[in-house]
Amino acid sequence: MDFALPKALEDYRSRVREFVQDEILPLEADRKHYDEHENIAVPVLKRVRRKVKEAGLWALQMPKARGGQGLPFVGMAACYEEMNRSIFGPVCFNCAAPDDGTMLVLDRILPEPAKDRWLQPIIDGDVQSAFAMTEPAPGAGSDPSMMMTTATREGDRWVVHGRKWFITGGGAAKHFILIARTSDDPRRGLTAFLYHADQPGWRVERQIGIMGPEDIGGHSEIVYEGLEIPDENRLLNVGDGLKLTQMRLGPARLTHCMRWTGMAKRALEIAADYVAERRSFGSRLADREGVRWMIGEAAMNVDIGRLLTMRAAWRLDQGSFARKEISMAKVVVSEALHHAVDTAIQLCGAKGYSKDTPLEWMYRYARLARLGDGASEVHKMVLAQLFLNERLGFWEW
Ligand SMILES: Cc1cc2nc3c(=O)[nH]c(=O)nc-3n(C[C@H](O)[C@H](O)[C@H](O)COP(=O)(O)OP(=O)(O)OC[C@H]3O[C@@H](n4cnc5c(N)ncnc54)[C@H](O)[C@@H]3O)c2cc1C
Repeated sequence: MDFALPKALEDYRSRVREFVQDEILPLEADRKHYDEHENIAVPVLKRVRRKVKEAGLWALQMPKARGGQGLPFVGMAACYEEMNRSIFGPVCFNCAAPDDGTMLVLDRILPEPAKDRWLQPIIDGDVQSAFAMTEPAPGAGSDPSMMMTTATREGDRWVVHGRKWFITGGGAAKHFILIARTSDDPRRGLTAFLYHADQPGWRVERQIGIMGPEDIGGHSEIVYEGLEIPDENRLLNVGDGLKLTQMRLGPARLTHCMRWTGMAKRALEIAADYVAERRSFGSRLADREGVRWMIGEAAMNVDIGRLLTMRAAWRLDQGSFARKEISMAKVVVSEALHHAVDTAIQLCGAKGYSKDTPLEWMYRYARLARLGDGASEVHKMVLAQLFLNERLGFWEW
């Protein structure tokens, strides 16, 4: 068993690290580079993205033939972790959610001419995408089978009625993946579609304010009032909506874990700098056993999550859906991130609670990690079912 990164991937990883250190961290340190939603301002983002392209680090997850770098999931894991050393990082490399997950699934399932139309503009960074599945109660949330938005076939078109909410980027996206009910079949009742923002029959009813920093395009509540989608823009077969959802969300959850590991490491890096200098009651904070236990535990949890992430990435590269491995990584990494940022804030005292460091930004963001993309409880429920079915097979090599 070899835990070392292959040379080509190590080369990408070290170049991403260098780029983040030299080009992105200095921007993050200056509030003038932020927009009103506490994210990187669009003109600044455009400038950095040009430099990322020149450095040959653009869209690591996409094929070289389409302008990406063609890295396998294992390579993405190593590089995404480096990117999210900065809270601005992933979007600068076009490796941020939700476009990252959209690109991965469209690259996998679309025929080449459809890729030119729907995928290439996202890879190029010219348009944003969104994934519309979640609905307000009593519609689909943790349980997609409760979906109420319908798509009804009329000749060669589908007509959509319903409501979605918390759709990331909904206010700015042009290319939407929509999941809607097409029959009452309990297993094959959902179907996935693509639509363009310019098509009539839908509207953003409101932008939902959230606890954490906003993505470009915010989080939208969307109403569908007769949106017409040509059948040629259906994804996979009629009834494959749940399958598409799993294909979209599995890798996307894992790339979250890759980024979150980087964010957790940065939080501990900030705490380490503080406790190395700060003194109380005659000694450095870093020399106190209580402080060391806190740091040791948080650092250990980050590494546990990272090993789970790397194993799941390796399984995806082998062609597996890695359902079990991704669920475990999602639970452990989201909780390790929350714990690491909380520990870092505690150790930095008042400074940790201030806006002088990105810790408070990370803390508000990290709270989402435990409930978005499948709450921890839902992943544990899935794991329990797998264990009850597989028993000792659950721990196969
Ligand atoms: C910032 C943000 C961005 C988002 N972006 C998107 C997006 O782009 N597209 C999209 O479609 N959705 C998006 N979502 C929605 C997100 O995926 C859902 O919030 C999530 O799937 C949970 O669904 P819900 O909110 O309806 O929670 P519910 O289903 O109402 O569950 C509430 C809580 O109940 C508990 N729970 C649920 N089921 C079980 C169970 N079986 N056993 C034990 N406990 C359980 C969990 O603790 C869960 O957090 C986003 C949400 C947020 C907050």
